[in-house]
Amino acid sequence: MSQYWSPAVRELTPYVPGEQPREQLVKLNTNENPYPPAPGVGEALRHYATDHLRLYPDPTSADLREALAENFQVTSSQVFVGNGSDEVLAFAFQAFFCHQAPLDVPAITYSFYPVYANLYRIELRKHPLTANWEVDIEALAANTERGGVIFANPNAPTGHAHSLETIEALLKRVTDRVVLIDEAYVDFGAESAVTLINRYPNLLVTGTFSKSRSLAGLRLGYAVGSEELIDGLERVKDSFNSFPVDSLASVVGIAALKDTEHFEACREYVITTRERTRQRLEALGFEVLPSKANFVLAQHPSFAGAQLYAGLRERGILVRHFNTPELNNFLRITIGTDDEMDSLIEALQTICA
Ligand code: PMP
Repeated sequence: MSQYWSPAVRELTPYVPGEQPREQLVKLNTNENPYPPAPGVGEALRHYATDHLRLYPDPTSADLREALAENFQVTSSQVFVGNGSDEVLAFAFQAFFCHQAPLDVPAITYSFYPVYANLYRIELRKHPLTANWEVDIEALAANTERGGVIFANPNAPTGHAHSLETIEALLKRVTDRVVLIDEAYVDFGAESAVTLINRYPNLLVTGTFSKSRSLAGLRLGYAVGSEELIDGLERVKDSFNSFPVDSLASVVGIAALKDTEHFEACREYVITTRERTRQRLEALGFEVLPSKANFVLAQHPSFAGAQLYAGLRERGILVRHFNTPELNNFLRITIGTDDEMDSLIEALQTICA
């Protein structure tokens, strides 16, 4: 604690990301993609040093925004890019949620939202999940004060996804506040709300290259929404650094977007492995929440989450265990390669024997 810190920083509990171990482990703790990025990414990187590195990046990221716009069938003025979707989310909190009315969030969701809210002094109204571990859309919609709504779809760390119909029903009710849907995991089986942005000017959808595009190390994220919302994000962004992302992120991001075949193959693989893993965990007695993401949340009736986490870690397998009362018994397991999942299941067979 320092006398120089602002009150908001003094009260802040910073976000603690999942461990990035230095030793070689089966790493199933931070929802990265187990497969490499599109082959075109390597090619783009080879030319990058000679063609781009000595120059400043394009301050409008026009090429990357155009590539994203084409991908989502929107215009580039409906696209914003940033250094990971975490940065995009931080800008959205500043641009849309910093006012007197509370922000509605599910009580269990991406744990970065409360960090931003604390930092920007935004009051949070946390709504418990339903008995089925689903985001309670009804509760999120019920507030009538000017504030905002944010949740992840699929949600994290549960993996539950709402249908596009349900999202649209929410948007029909919440017309005067920004509804931010964080689609970090949407490509693993959920429907994207990007198709709704032309009908709902208060809808902002964020996404990332970290998961389905296998580029977590790059830090590239985006938002898609009405021009009005994108302008709001640009205003905040311009006050920090006039370059939205560096030229490396643009070049690599465009190369990754171009390779639809690789993208489809990888996500199909992850989805198939996820379903197989779910069945195998259930055969071991686990309760596994249905997931549309690249992870599953699972608990065992006879073994505590911390005990399973430690047993796996001893055997060189890293999963995520949350030290919160609601999730304490669960493990969140990222879907890795088939071999990695075989190691996980074998280890759990021994631990649970
Ligand atoms: N949203 C959710 C729900 C996440 O789980 C994550 C990854 N931790 C992010 C956003 C941020 O992803 P990135 O900053 O890598 O784009």
